[in-house]
Amino acid sequence: MIQTVNSIPAFDNKQQYSTIAAEVSEAVLEVLSSGRYIGGPLVEGLEQQLATYTNVTDCVACNSGTDALYLALRAYNIGAGDEVITTPFTFVATCEVISAVGAKPVFVDIDPATYNLDLQQVAAAVTSNTKAIIPVHLFGQPIDMTALMELAASQNLLVVEDCAQSTGAMWNNQKVGSIGHIGCFSFYPTKNLGGCGDGGAITTSNPEIAARLKLLKNHGQKSQYQYEEIGVNSRLDSIQAAILLIKLRYLDIWNQQRQQIAARYHEFLSHVPDIIIPQELPGGTGVWNQYTIRVQNGKRDLLRNKLQEKGVNTAIYYPYPLHLQPVYQSLGYQPGQLPVVEQVCHEVLSLPMFPELSEEQQQQVIYSIKEVMI
Ligand SMILES: *Cc1c(COP(=O)(O)O)cnc(C)c1O
Repeated sequence: MIQTVNSIPAFDNKQQYSTIAAEVSEAVLEVLSSGRYIGGPLVEGLEQQLATYTNVTDCVACNSGTDALYLALRAYNIGAGDEVITTPFTFVATCEVISAVGAKPVFVDIDPATYNLDLQQVAAAVTSNTKAIIPVHLFGQPIDMTALMELAASQNLLVVEDCAQSTGAMWNNQKVGSIGHIGCFSFYPTKNLGGCGDGGAITTSNPEIAARLKLLKNHGQKSQYQYEEIGVNSRLDSIQAAILLIKLRYLDIWNQQRQQIAARYHEFLSHVPDIIIPQELPGGTGVWNQYTIRVQNGKRDLLRNKLQEKGVNTAIYYPYPLHLQPVYQSLGYQPGQLPVVEQVCHEVLSLPMFPELSEEQQQQVIYSIKEVMI
């Protein structure tokens, strides 16, 4: 019998920081003494490295993943009268930005096996007003980008990839963020490439779009004090760039550690009653920002509470589908309209997942789950 010694967090980044603390401190102190705190060579360096990493020609850093999505829609002139299809099972930012540019979010149901958009439902939701699709590679699992890009091409639609949870993930050996028309990344601290504050980036291989993004993120300023259009302030801090440049060097190793942890969860949880493990599509290489199981027959909250008593902390991403949120009441969705996501929200449970989760800790998680469910 394994004893519950220490409690296991659902997420922890202090341990990771301790492994790179010396490098990070040095880089941060250098920025502080340089006097250059916003933009500059470190931000440009990060943009170049991320473009290379993602295999695109251009990367534009900005202040958050939310801004990345907002700026992407602005750069393609998505606005009033346009419909943008997306998932109701995501962080609110994905659809918030659709409203922010004046367009209308259209929610369609998800595939319960992968938690990503159901592409048949996407195809069925296209109207003459549909301009774009925002797929989310949720929890780090890429959506079928081959099928999605075929659908988008046939309907002449823009594809804005929400890669906030999937930096480094691949579809058919191509990095997400390089397959759609434009890719949006977040460096929020819990993401696979997380900074020590807010940050984001946009990837594109269209130089005109890259130029437009640079304009929009800096007040629409073409040259100093000359403004071409209404923009925003969404510049990235040099300190964040310095930290992210260091962390980018470790990202593949950290993602591999997440993949090992996911493989172990797969192995030990695939035959536990009432538990459904997340499915990976054959062409996808996921990076496991979350490892999210479904707990069936109304047992999710029971399992969660029992795990907590045993010192195993879990999280629920996401407890409510976005189409039924008060903020989207005016869109007129009714309970029961998107049945899969409404069911899945009652079943999902995200298990401890971060690269430094030890095998011992993970065994404790698995053992505790089996103790409750078998
Ligand atoms: C985190 C996240 C965002 C927003 O990123 P921020 O950097 O927090 O603004 C957008 N979409 C998804 C799917 C996310 O997980």
